[in-house]
Amino acid sequence: MNRMAKKCLITGGAGFIGSHLARRLLSSGCEVTVLDNLFTGSKANIYDMLDNPRFTFLMHDVTQPFWGQFDEIYNLACPASPIHYQRNPVETIKVSFLGMMNTLELALKTRARVFHTSTSEVYGDPEVHPQPEKYWGHVNTIGPRSCYDEGKRAAESLCADYTRQYGMDIRMIRIFNTYGPAMHPHDGRVVSNFIVQALKGKDITLYGDGNQSRSFQYVDDLLDAIESYMCLPEEKVRAFFSAHGMDFPVLNIGNPAEFTIRELAAMTLELIPGTGSKLVYHPLPKDDPKRRRPDITMAKELLGWEPRVTLDRGLPKTIDYFRELLSR
Ligand code: NAD
Ligand code: UDP
Repeated sequence: MNRMAKKCLITGGAGFIGSHLARRLLSSGCEVTVLDNLFTGSKANIYDMLDNPRFTFLMHDVTQPFWGQFDEIYNLACPASPIHYQRNPVETIKVSFLGMMNTLELALKTRARVFHTSTSEVYGDPEVHPQPEKYWGHVNTIGPRSCYDEGKRAAESLCADYTRQYGMDIRMIRIFNTYGPAMHPHDGRVVSNFIVQALKGKDITLYGDGNQSRSFQYVDDLLDAIESYMCLPEEKVRAFFSAHGMDFPVLNIGNPAEFTIRELAAMTLELIPGTGSKLVYHPLPKDDPKRRRPDITMAKELLGWEPRVTLDRGLPKTIDYFRELLSR
């Protein structure tokens, strides 16, 4: 899609998803500014873009206000892996809320279109399966995951209130577990953990009995959805959600193919044979959701989008990335 000369800001743009998004926006002709404090992101993710005259990196913490004139602001800043967001939970909820607030204040003053990355975690340990956008969720407000879950839920409230109060153009997605190249080897999420463990011949760490499920989306599919969503005219987005009885635009974006964590471990070992890795069982972390699968009916209807990369095609690409990274 040609989006010549659009000025875009990506908070958290040096992270896994943000760096892919920056590359995608550059390739469609945009000017891209990445704002990141490198808490879980890294300069290595954006090195290849630093020489591009349409790319700028700003080292900044989103909990502090920021300024600039942009057409579109993509709010991604927030640690996303449970081990990282639980490392400093107070900071996590601050980043989620204040980062959103600062993004919205800037967009309000400059009339920018906002894109916010929320998460399937707002559904908590869901009692409705698969999860549609209208499901309100089942979240422990005081558990170890609540700094992230409730932080993201508060950010959603802010987006909905700024839309209703000020008539802003804000689009939000709830991302379901996404994987791919550029994940950090010590990110701690299950796909990167299993691949790195298998490549190093270490044991594969299954939490609980491994029967909990997730739906894994390859990062390119997510980028396709973001791009299509942001290119739609505001009136079309409003009319679509209003026809569905919703006064705020939110879409589930994920791959509905559901796997148990044990199945994921087996697939990973099949793709990386002969390493001698064994399955070892660790206690299930508190409040770990038992099942998760997106209902993507709305995204299909609005964007004509559905994921194309199956797990058996996405995993080998991700394995190639980690194999190359670990060989350096
Ligand atoms: P990531 O950890 O790789 O990226 C997050 C980025 O935010 C990093 O570059 C980090 O340095 C930056 N950041 C953190 N705190 C900051 C602060 N105070 N100021 C500025 N930058 C800060 O994670 P990701 O997987 O790329 O996730 C990106 C976004 O997508 C997050 O908001 C996350 O909640 C959301 N999301 C991701 C997934 C997934 O499966 N990857 C699922 C649901 C939602
Ligand atoms: N998990 C696991 N072993 C690991 C890392 C994670 O069994 O080394 C499990 C974790 O308990 C959860 C699932 O895999 O049930 C997905 O975990 P991840 O941290 O990737 O994402 P989230 O729980 O946020 O969906």
